[in-house]
Amino acid sequence: MNKENDSTNFGKNQKTGINPDGLKETMESYNLACQSQDKEFNKSRKYLKSINGPRYYALKFAPSAYGSLGGIKINHKTEVVDIQGNVIEGLYAAGSDANSICDPDYVFVLPGNTLGFAVNSGRMAGKNAVEFIKTAFVEE
Ligand SMILES: Cc1cc2nc3c(=O)[nH]c(=O)nc-3n(C[C@H](O)[C@H](O)[C@H](O)COP(=O)(O)OP(=O)(O)OC[C@H]3O[C@@H](n4cnc5c(N)ncnc54)[C@H](O)[C@@H]3O)c2cc1C
Repeated sequence: MNKENDSTNFGKNQKTGINPDGLKETMESYNLACQSQDKEFNKSRKYLKSINGPRYYALKFAPSAYGSLGGIKINHKTEVVDIQGNVIEGLYAAGSDANSICDPDYVFVLPGNTLGFAVNSGRMAGKNAVEFIKTAFVEE
């Protein structure tokens, strides 16, 4: 959106494809809400900042899938357990496939929590699997 945001030319130079009249109306009604109360979305007063700068930039946002997390249940030894909690011998899981620490929510404010889990549970699962192989498949 360019500088010419007066009442006649408001938003006309913007390249977003947003209807300029609709944009003008939205911004005017938002700015009005900033002076009193947001009755449309009930946005808290502390977040109501009027839009009246000389220039604005626009970004296009779209919803998308971030990834999947969890699904396979493991015990403290990274052994996969069935629905009754019984160990499935020789089967180990780690990382995203087994991550239930984020269930039900992915905690974005805790940086590295899923990578940390992936690295450490992977190390543990690898070590435990090697131990299992050593004991289960002893050469005669
Ligand atoms: C955009 C984005 C940002 C992220 N940012 C953060 C962050 O800031 N902090 C954080 O902690 N976590 C972050 N994560 C999550 C983090 O990346 C994962 O938790 C971590 O990579 C999980 O590791 P993993 O080894 O379990 O799985 P993955 O890294 O997904 O590795 C699985 C591997 O298995 C391979 N594979 C799949 N199927 C087969 C098959 N049949 N045969 C052979 N190989 C196969 C795949 O190609 C892949 O290489 C982010 C994830 C995304 C998508």
